[in-house]
Amino acid sequence: MEVVCPIDEKRAPEISALLRPPPPREIQDYFDRLLASRECCRLKVKQDGEHGKGVYADVEFKEGELLLRDQMLFGCQHPLNKIDCLVCSFCFRFIGTLELQIGRRLFFQDLGLSSSHGCDTGACSDVSNDHGASDSSDGDDIMDERSCDDSRGCASGSKRAKVPLPKEIVESLMNGEIVLPYSDKFSAPPVVPCAGGCQEAYYCSKACADADWNSFHSLLCTGEKSEAFSAKALLQFMQHANETNDIFILAAKAIAYTILRYRKSKANFLTSCKEDAARVMDKFHMPLLLEAWKPISVGHKRRWWECIALPEDVDPSDEAGFRMEIKELAFKSLQLLKAAIFDKECEPLFSLDIYGHIIGMFELNNLDLVVASPQEEAKKVSQPYLDALGDEYAVSCEGMHNFYWTDLIYQQTWLCF
Ligand SMILES: [Zn+2]
Ligand SMILES: [Zn+2]
Repeated sequence: MEVVCPIDEKRAPEISALLRPPPPREIQDYFDRLLASRECCRLKVKQDGEHGKGVYADVEFKEGELLLRDQMLFGCQHPLNKIDCLVCSFCFRFIGTLELQIGRRLFFQDLGLSSSHGCDTGACSDVSNDHGASDSSDGDDIMDERSCDDSRGCASGSKRAKVPLPKEIVESLMNGEIVLPYSDKFSAPPVVPCAGGCQEAYYCSKACADADWNSFHSLLCTGEKSEAFSAKALLQFMQHANETNDIFILAAKAIAYTILRYRKSKANFLTSCKEDAARVMDKFHMPLLLEAWKPISVGHKRRWWECIALPEDVDPSDEAGFRMEIKELAFKSLQLLKAAIFDKECEPLFSLDIYGHIIGMFELNNLDLVVASPQEEAKKVSQPYLDALGDEYAVSCEGMHNFYWTDLIYQQTWLCF
């Protein structure tokens, strides 16, 4: 049966305004301003009507030279990787002591949970997560062979056997009673918990915690201080995304980001406006929403279920059914998100057409997110503890993020902040 989202019809004019690409001059100004704000950037973005956007430079670069350090717009850590790596939920650097990183991995390993054991936990057979945008962990030219083997490999024949450690030692590692020799040489920032109380998000600093809260997390936090409409519905949304396709979490970040930008610019606008708020907002509501949506508007996008490549294991004769299945999956996720963070003034953002285009944008532009583990560096001094983890002692932080236009640069010079 055809999926019908009532908001698609009800908000059709606003949706088409949001999906219409901005005029070329406006896009050019946007990228010029963005690049001017980046540290020593000698690159330019130009566009032509036929081939889209391109990255240009009129200077020579040496091999290995840093070309651009850009701010990530949206990023998330793959849910299973959270078991192995404790990283900042905003900038994704490793946080906490080496003992904590090793201790919590041993703890989860004892519980039978580990992303490195995809085959044991069923991750390898998760059909939805194998299809489409969340499958960005195929970054073959970015991830080195070791991290691929460690995090996804199901052939364990050549792996070292694990030497288990007693539970008390694992606990002592986690609570800081055991200090590994020289571990202070590999120190990461201390763990800052989410002020919203969710016990899901952790940060490297208060600055990252505040930036995440103001950009996305105040609406996507499941803690007691969450500004979500329903934290319970939010948990259902997260669970559905974790079980099907974690690209939905990235899409939720894009929607939360736009809503929060809209609310902020509306508040600024109303404080500088002397007229009656309701009357003024009638006229300025849509321009403010379009301005909040601007960073997403410049990204190339198509509907997810239309642009997703047909997986090899799907017979071409089943293509229509496959695309319908993807559309239904997106609609189910959208309904859960709508129950959690709906905002009447931003209603067009909750249409299936917009949701499909946001996910399609990720499908077409996503990059892997890989941050090397400090445990790799420290392996010589921590050998007995690493033996307990077997070959998977140094799993990298893995996730996905979206830059829109920096793919070329990043394929050559991978950056981790
Ligand atoms: Zn951080
Ligand atoms: Zn939180």
